[in-house]
Amino acid sequence: MLLSRYLLPVMKETPADAQIVSHQLMLRAGLIRQTAAGIYAWLPLGLRVLDRIADIVRREQNRAGAVELLMPTIQSADLWRQSGRYDAYGPEMLRFQDRGGREMLYGPTNEEMITSIFRDCVKSYRDLPRTLYHIQWKFRDEVRPRFGVMRGREFLMKDAYSFDMDEEGGRASYDAQFTAYLRTFAALGLRAVPVRAPTGPIGGDLSHEFHILADTGESEVFYDSALDAVDLTDPDAPATLRGLYAMEAEEHEKVVNCPVPPERLAKRRGIEVGHIFFFGTKYSAAMGMQVQAKDGSLVNPLMGSYGVGVSRLMGAIIEASHDSAGIVWPDSVAPFDVGLINLRVDDAACSEAAHALQAKLEAAGLSVLHDDRDARGGEKFATMDLIGLPWAITIGPKGVAAGTVELKRRATGEKHEVSFESVLAKLI
Ligand code: ATP
Ligand code: MG
Ligand code: MG
Ligand code: MG
Repeated sequence: MLLSRYLLPVMKETPADAQIVSHQLMLRAGLIRQTAAGIYAWLPLGLRVLDRIADIVRREQNRAGAVELLMPTIQSADLWRQSGRYDAYGPEMLRFQDRGGREMLYGPTNEEMITSIFRDCVKSYRDLPRTLYHIQWKFRDEVRPRFGVMRGREFLMKDAYSFDMDEEGGRASYDAQFTAYLRTFAALGLRAVPVRAPTGPIGGDLSHEFHILADTGESEVFYDSALDAVDLTDPDAPATLRGLYAMEAEEHEKVVNCPVPPERLAKRRGIEVGHIFFFGTKYSAAMGMQVQAKDGSLVNPLMGSYGVGVSRLMGAIIEASHDSAGIVWPDSVAPFDVGLINLRVDDAACSEAAHALQAKLEAAGLSVLHDDRDARGGEKFATMDLIGLPWAITIGPKGVAAGTVELKRRATGEKHEVSFESVLAKLI
């Protein structure tokens, strides 16, 4: 990709209306633009990151056996009347009418819709268990949209829904998602702590939130500091982590005998990036969804729902990975693998070498953002640091004469002179 043909409106100054660093950097690095309160356009660079985050979420959902579908953003009020939630949901739900006067809404979540789809399609125990998911925009008319995409009104969520014949199966489906979440967040370069959570308006008895511990988080979490030593990617970790290791502050207040000794009890702020629930027959009973069991009886399947804040994750990743010069993307979600800086676009040899290297790297499967603009070196370096691509390669007249480029690793700042021939091998 040539930067001269791209849309990358970077800003030098910190926008005054952005309070937290991820919001500031997302605006400064040209990832997003606010179009109305809590509603954002995803600019080309931001969209690439959003897609990569969604792809990692998708990969781990598929690995866990969940099946992707896509439900619409717009839902009918009648559907929500079947569960009794239409009136209960409150002003966070954006409601409107179509031209025929039918009451509609922009979905804040999809329990009702997936239950109705499953009710229509599935009649027998032979078709269970199933876990279905989609990655779709949601709208919640938040009282205080803030911190950029962290608390937007329109936001991208992965939501999965499990259907099982019995409690044991339901818990197994829940566990599969629990494990998928630990894998997902680790693949995104994040350490997300599972926190025992209140079930709230969705109801049910088993629920965990996943929090990134960060001072800018909006939730307060109590947790066992022994957790700091647990490797969350260890295959045995999920079993350990389901115990009472961490809790939301409001829940912790209700605990009579905290099993964590006071000297190990830590209090931190957290960003909620995921939330899973097992709520049994709440929706299947209310909405009359039944399947035939082996013995011929009719049974309400047991359900769970599992959300990941895909767009919020971008803010969380930046909160966890940045420095004073800008974003430091983990390799797994970086918008491009390599930034290629041509220091002298007016020098034919430099330009030829830069275009040739871009082609070579792209042919090897790497994504490259080639800064071929007629701009000063300092500006190009600052832009690359700000947008945080994992590698920067600089091509200048001296190097071209000597057959070398400068290779810089964004995360460490380490720089090396390497030959044109060997640079590809250093990147893969
Ligand atoms: P919060 O406590 O932050 O308001 P929530 O508990 O209302 O979130 P859930 O209903 O559990 O959210 O939705 C699943 C996930 O969707 C959350 O864990 C979070 O990552 C994400 N999410 C929820 N609300 C927003 C929002 N306004 N903007 C961005 N992401 C959101
Ligand atoms: Mg909320
Ligand atoms: Mg919450
Ligand atoms: Mg939640």
